[in-house]
Amino acid sequence: MMRFDILTIFPEVFKNYFDTSIIKRAQSKKIIEIYIHNLRKWTTDPHQSVDDVPYGGGKGMIFKVEPIYKAVKDLKKQNRQKARCRVILFSPKGEKLNQSRVKKLSQYRRLILICPRYEGVDERVAKYIADEEISIGDYVLTGGELPAMVLIDSITRLLPGVINKESLLEESFAQNFKLEIPNSEFLGEYPQYTRPAVFYPEKGNKKIAWRVPSVLLSGDHQKIQQWKQKHFKKIKS
Ligand code: SAM
Repeated sequence: MMRFDILTIFPEVFKNYFDTSIIKRAQSKKIIEIYIHNLRKWTTDPHQSVDDVPYGGGKGMIFKVEPIYKAVKDLKKQNRQKARCRVILFSPKGEKLNQSRVKKLSQYRRLILICPRYEGVDERVAKYIADEEISIGDYVLTGGELPAMVLIDSITRLLPGVINKESLLEESFAQNFKLEIPNSEFLGEYPQYTRPAVFYPEKGNKKIAWRVPSVLLSGDHQKIQQWKQKHFKKIKS
């Protein structure tokens, strides 16, 4: 079982996503467990403040090191199985998340995910507490909660028993040019279509036709396979 511990000041934002579909099933099948912790629990002042003004001036507030230090220390103590643990800090200046990083992180049995807000976090968290800093892309979000959901989602679908591998593997061509088979080195996609074979949307007052490529309707497996191979687009990782 893989365990995720999320440190956040907005624990309520996760519920709907984690209670839905594949992530929900992975939890009920005991493949993953997710603990969401309010970072304020590790504050000592009456206002339960997790942030303060930056030294040297500057706009906004930043997360303090102390509550995060205490939280991570406490959480690490809850590790009777001595699970391989990694502490992740979300940051736009971190290493970019891609499929190979997701794969590597899926080898750990436990991840502690730190989700700052406001103007970010005291640099000592990156330097002394986190094992790695991760960015989910070159843009700035309001907090680390979405990156935490992205990371948990992308890892969970790689774990054995979450996605039905057989159904992806049963077509012979899948061996040659991989779809999104968990742990595959070659990720990619070809265009897919479903019914109707022809869709007639309106353009002005005329109806136009959007057709499914006829080869996919031909029933000729060899040709379909060639077509899929030709249109396969690799995902860079
Ligand atoms: N002042 C920071 C800067 O300019 O880089 C931005 C802080 S941002 C508003 C607040 C928090 O959201 C960050 O500390 C980080 O945890 C998270 N965050 C924002 N964008 C992110 C991204 N692309 N990847 C991962 N985390 C991100």
